[in-house]
Amino acid sequence: MFGFFSSKQHLSRGVHVPECKELTEHLPIRRLPFAPMLIVPLSQHSGAPAVALVKEGQEVVRGEPIARANGFVSVPMHAPATGRVERIALAPTSRGELQTAIYIKPWPSASQEVLYGADQDIEHMTPDGIIAAVQATGVVGLGGAAFPTHVKMKVPAGCTIDTIVVNGCECEPYLTTDHRVMAEYPQQVVHGARIMMKAMGAPKAIIGVEDNKMDAVEALRKAIGPATDVTVGVVEAKYPQGAEKMLIEVLLGRQVPSGGLPSEIGVAVFNVATLAQLGELLPRSQGLIERVITITGPAVSKPGNYLVALGTPLRWALEQAGCVDEPASVILGGPMMGPSCSSLDIPITKGVSGILVLTKKEVQARPKQVHPCIKCGACVEACPLHLNPSRMGLLARKERYEEMESDFHLNDCFECGCCSYVCPANIPLVQYFRVSKQMNRERKARERAQANG
Ligand code: SF4
Ligand code: SF4
Repeated sequence: MFGFFSSKQHLSRGVHVPECKELTEHLPIRRLPFAPMLIVPLSQHSGAPAVALVKEGQEVVRGEPIARANGFVSVPMHAPATGRVERIALAPTSRGELQTAIYIKPWPSASQEVLYGADQDIEHMTPDGIIAAVQATGVVGLGGAAFPTHVKMKVPAGCTIDTIVVNGCECEPYLTTDHRVMAEYPQQVVHGARIMMKAMGAPKAIIGVEDNKMDAVEALRKAIGPATDVTVGVVEAKYPQGAEKMLIEVLLGRQVPSGGLPSEIGVAVFNVATLAQLGELLPRSQGLIERVITITGPAVSKPGNYLVALGTPLRWALEQAGCVDEPASVILGGPMMGPSCSSLDIPITKGVSGILVLTKKEVQARPKQVHPCIKCGACVEACPLHLNPSRMGLLARKERYEEMESDFHLNDCFECGCCSYVCPANIPLVQYFRVSKQMNRERKARERAQANG
């Protein structure tokens, strides 16, 4: 009656990793004040960087567009605070490169209230109108992918979407961003799901939530009420339950074909925090200027779930959360898939769902010794995609990258790290696969260049 799955759904492969969520899972979202300087990179998403609309010295209002999208696969940027554009210059990014960014100095008394934007009637919009309105919000996948959401909403020719899957699993250890968003903003999540249903012509939506977040399930159930178009699917807490293909299979019993897309089997998947933002921003035609992130880990004295203005420097955010020790490692996202961060001077961007800070103790405890494969088969058992990591690992060491792709579906690997996690020989399988994919990309680029003379 409440749109609730009666039985729990199971992921057959994957691994049980220590969750480490107790530090923050029950802590309500708290807003951080503005940093003295906000750094808004023009590329915080997959696709073409945005194009600046402002000049140095210009005053901007919180929520005002400051950069326009450069084509369909691109999104605009909005001012995260009222203040002055100090400069437009290169800024460091998480990948270690420099990238153009708009530096905004908030006024000392700048309010967190957003005055920019106007009500819009989504009910009477066409699907293309909704897609354009979503692009104008600048919303991208907030689960970490940062792929422009409006691009994902465009149903490919020949496909029909019958189900929107809302990903509320948050299976990475430590992270509790999505958990708190579901528990505290369930109406926005449900509204966001219905916007997607309308835009994509899907009659139903299922919100997949792991069974370690039952307070969030309850909150969503109340927000849905007696309606049956949106349901909640409770799934077992297991890594990587939140991977798109895994969640679809567990919730709907459908398999995305190798190398294919969910749209080929009638499904579109969106992260729950992404939909909560759309549910909030779209009715007011406002832009994405802040997001919830979990700042946590053994090196943090005030771990929590913080609402942070986009462009806040990492160093400043960590000062607010209090680092108890000299951080030995800072990871953007969770420990299984999150990249290590090379500089604390980088800004928090749209795709950052968490900051995990480790001390020397945890970093030194990580296994480093590489032993030969003992052919135990644990990696094969763990791989949620039924790949053969052991065989691929051997081929990678022999630099037979092409064979890994043609015969062993290397490109299906989404680098979840389950194989490395279970390997008793501590073979860094997932790192091998990342390098192998890169080598294949470079080889193909060389071949294209040769073919074009
Ligand atoms: S081969 Fe790829 S998808 Fe399979 S467990 Fe390893 S990292 Fe995950
Ligand atoms: S888990 Fe490690 S040791 Fe075991 S088969 Fe896989 S690669 Fe070899």
